[in-house]
Amino acid sequence: MKMTVIGYWGGYPAAGEATSGYLIEHEGFSLLVDCGSAVLSQLQKFIQIDQLDAVLLSHYHHDHIADIGPLQYALLIHRFMGKELKELPIYGHSHDQIEFDRLSYKNISRGIAYNPEKKLHIGPFSVTFMQTVHPVMCYAMEIQAGDQSIVYTADSSFDNKFISFAQQADLFICESNLYANQNGTNAGHMTSEEAGFIANKGNVKELLLTHLPHFGDHEQLIREAEKLYQGNVTLAKTGYVWG
Ligand SMILES: [Zn+2]
Ligand SMILES: [Zn+2]
Repeated sequence: MKMTVIGYWGGYPAAGEATSGYLIEHEGFSLLVDCGSAVLSQLQKFIQIDQLDAVLLSHYHHDHIADIGPLQYALLIHRFMGKELKELPIYGHSHDQIEFDRLSYKNISRGIAYNPEKKLHIGPFSVTFMQTVHPVMCYAMEIQAGDQSIVYTADSSFDNKFISFAQQADLFICESNLYANQNGTNAGHMTSEEAGFIANKGNVKELLLTHLPHFGDHEQLIREAEKLYQGNVTLAKTGYVWG
């Protein structure tokens, strides 16, 4: 599997960058996980829009879905210009029916509700879900292909369940929207220290900190996570490639 960070900011994109978006590729299949604000712009640095095979969404906060509409318009325009395109499957949960219904647009894209209790198969990927602790319904995901696994926390405050969910992950993409001295319980986010704690207890092979805050010095997040986790800790940035 190859994973490219398309966007990594929490809440809103910094100038010229994007909020949550991760391109995961395997055996010629391109899966976009989350499609936040400005993701569509950044994505085109790495792949043509019409090369996307599927989109998978963790939850319906703006910083994870803001560019779904523009993505649908882009595909509509591509088709208008004569390109033959298949309907793009967009996988999301259906706890919020209004948001879920927006994933289907003409015959351009089709919303597919995933059952978080079951393993989901998308192209060469198998996806397992875990409900997170967040103000709206949100799912973390383990994405497997070949003999590798990527675990993505999506948005969540700390939950012990992540330790078993992330166990032995080859790549652990953990949100770290806060610094060690903060408390994410009310906001539904985690600190660098909590990310390091889960990475350590979960014996993950590599930790990627993402959903980064718009304040402080991000290098501090690394130092704080490294106090609890001895493996490789990296800050997400646009175009960072793993695998
Ligand atoms: Zn959120
Ligand atoms: Zn978010």
